Amino acid sequence: MKTKFQQKKSWVYCCILTVWSIGIWACEETDTPVSPAEGDSDSDSDSDSDSDSDSDSDSDSDSDSDSDSDSDSDSDSDSDSETDTDSDSEADTDSASDTDTGSDSDTEIDPNNLPDITFEDYHELAEITKYMQDVAEATPGYIQYNVVGTSGQDRVIDYLAINLTGYQDPPAILLIGTHHGDEKSATDTLLGVIDYLLRHLEDPVIDKVMDYYALYVLPVLNPDGHNAHTRGNAKGDDLNRDYAYPGMDESEAFQTPETAALKHLLDDVAFSGAAAYHSGMRAILWPWCYSGNETEDADVFYTIGKAIADAMGITYIDQSYNDFQSFGEFIDYTYSKHNTISLTVEVSTKKTPPAQELQGYVDQVVDGAIAFMDALYEFDNGKLVLEEAPELFYPDELRSPIDQNGQRLE
Ligand SMILES: [Zn+2]
Repeated sequence: MKTKFQQKKSWVYCCILTVWSIGIWACEETDTPVSPAEGDSDSDSDSDSDSDSDSDSDSDSDSDSDSDSDSDSDSDSDSDSETDTDSDSEADTDSASDTDTGSDSDTEIDPNNLPDITFEDYHELAEITKYMQDVAEATPGYIQYNVVGTSGQDRVIDYLAINLTGYQDPPAILLIGTHHGDEKSATDTLLGVIDYLLRHLEDPVIDKVMDYYALYVLPVLNPDGHNAHTRGNAKGDDLNRDYAYPGMDESEAFQTPETAALKHLLDDVAFSGAAAYHSGMRAILWPWCYSGNETEDADVFYTIGKAIADAMGITYIDQSYNDFQSFGEFIDYTYSKHNTISLTVEVSTKKTPPAQELQGYVDQVVDGAIAFMDALYEFDNGKLVLEEAPELFYPDELRSPIDQNGQRLE
């Protein structure tokens, strides 16, 4: 990371000199960087129109970061109110990628400033939100707390956008949890991913992927279900059957407030990869869900899926349709609409394992997330050695369980 920063810094100084020689006013105009936590109005046009402006603000970024952190308690509520009121606007989700200043600086994230989190027990919604806000406050200029919208019962659906790349719109990855509110291991483990990555940025693989991707982590898509410990949302709707899939008119999908809110983020950020975390079985599954036809990326999905599975000690990996056919899943939408390499990660056979087992699943999900990002990095850079997907056969006991109504409980 430092190497690229050093290279960028030399370039930065050249740009500063050039811009300075043209006119001091150009520097002054961009001397006030937009804090990613508070900026979504006109920061796009400012920064896009003048790539020099990113570098100009470098010399100020340290002091700016300090002052930003002082005001972050305000900006948290700002971002809430902004996004609460305009979840149908595209502007709010744009701001997630507006980490357009500061990350060229030599400032590193100091793990000592990060909030402590343990996994001796599951976290309540308020604790999850507080944790994410605290992480963003501890890392001004790098990590943005944002709200994509609200649930049917008006709970926030929030996420962190972590951008350590030094670029405004880098390739992005989304890790999303809790489509189903009773699958608590798929919630807390994502908080563990945030914590681990930020405390191990010196790890060569983590350094590589975090220097390349912006990482979006949205732990709870279904806060009403999480609160009530139900699979569906407040109306009992299954969020992971509410996405569009090939051949379906998109206007018939996104009927729930939760997926409708998420759609803005999915459509605004070009996610190169996404992993949706669930529990109720142990598996890595990929598109299609709606059809038994293989995608043209079957070998990519198999290779990346196997990397995740190996890291997590999971043996069941397959195209989701082969587990059972389902319509309207997240992974089918993101892959078909945005070409996102999108997989389902089923964390634990128990949807909410005993709390004393939680740390073990956190460790597995962390390893799996790193393996996912590493393999995706290789793929995105044309270096992934593809394994041909073999014929896969599994015993029924590995497949997703079925309830008394014949519904799969993945
Ligand atoms: Zn699920």
